[in-house]
Amino acid sequence: MSGSMTEEPKPAATGGGPGGEPGGGVGACAAVIVAAGRGVRAGGDVPKQYARIGGEPVLRRTVGVFAAHPAVSTVVAVIHPDDAALARQAAGPARVHFVDGGASRQESVYNGLKFLDNLDPEFVLVHDAARPFVTADIVGKCLDAARRHAAAAAGVPMADTVKRTDEAGVVTDTIARDRLWRAQTPQAFRYRDLMAAHEAAAGRALTDDAAVAEAAGFAVAMSPGSEDNFKITAAEDLARADRIARALAPRVTVVGHGFDVHAFGPGDHIVLCGVRIGHSRGLEGHSDADAALHALTDALLGALGEGDIGQHFPDSDPQWRGAASDRFVRHALGLAAAADGRLINLDLTIVCERPKLQPHYDAMKRSLCALTGLPPARIGLKATTTEKLGFTGRGEGLAAQAVVSLDLPDTV
Ligand code: MG
Repeated sequence: MSGSMTEEPKPAATGGGPGGEPGGGVGACAAVIVAAGRGVRAGGDVPKQYARIGGEPVLRRTVGVFAAHPAVSTVVAVIHPDDAALARQAAGPARVHFVDGGASRQESVYNGLKFLDNLDPEFVLVHDAARPFVTADIVGKCLDAARRHAAAAAGVPMADTVKRTDEAGVVTDTIARDRLWRAQTPQAFRYRDLMAAHEAAAGRALTDDAAVAEAAGFAVAMSPGSEDNFKITAAEDLARADRIARALAPRVTVVGHGFDVHAFGPGDHIVLCGVRIGHSRGLEGHSDADAALHALTDALLGALGEGDIGQHFPDSDPQWRGAASDRFVRHALGLAAAADGRLINLDLTIVCERPKLQPHYDAMKRSLCALTGLPPARIGLKATTTEKLGFTGRGEGLAAQAVVSLDLPDTV
């Protein structure tokens, strides 16, 4: 059982744990998070416990549940010594002690337990870092079960029929699934019991800490886990974890508004929503003067709090001369996508006396669908006049207004 400690355990002190937090002694519970694996079976260039799901390292989610749990006073993460910097960064702001792991999971847990020797908590929870969807409820129920029995393991009753096969894969028997469970973590123990059980099990490879305790003769009760409390092992698990993390993350709907005007000038057509419309005049402007797409760009930038179109595409820059304005919209949509945003709908109003736009609605709407990826039902497109009042009424120019709503992570 080797493995140097990355921190020295502090001397025992009444009412003071290794980091000065209360929580040693009778009634106290520590958590040992096993994060020492280096496997990259789940894909990516870092071990799975440091991979990001929903934008956050797996370890941070896992550690956060225990650090925030009212029954848990001390959290120890057992890590591979080569991953110290990675682990500290991944764990984030939670108060965590880091301990070097050993050659096997069992040795790593034992190193974590030894670190707690001076603190001497009454209970200890052992949990896999790669199970980030553990909940406070699962932790609490596991600990309660350990208080009632000698030890407890979270798990899920077997729902599938279980078959045993011979070496050729042919079924030899069907195992009655009643009272069969799939064991997960957390697993909860009286600290001194688990220490003694680990010492007795040294040199024997056992599958989990419940098995270590069983081998030492302690009664282990099962307590309710959940299907979401699965262990990230393969790449598909990481993808599933990312989907769950994103679904759990709070999101908000934001609204953006844009307004644009271009003056009529010489020409034989105008461009609106990316559609060329024949007319006795053209629109003046640095780009193709597509006021509708400029208003839409500003609405998107507005929803993102990202300034306006002039800041992103200065009209002093010759590269935008005559440019098709769909590129401005694509740029703003790219910013939304980078923020993990989703465009929900858009509503455009174009204000002019002429040309009459109704004959062009279908083409304009198809163009907006293609540009934004929205279905027709999420695109509003309207034209109005100002009853011959003002600059639009006098035919001096054309105005466009756009409103968009975006679904965004609530990270502010
Ligand atoms: Mg403009």
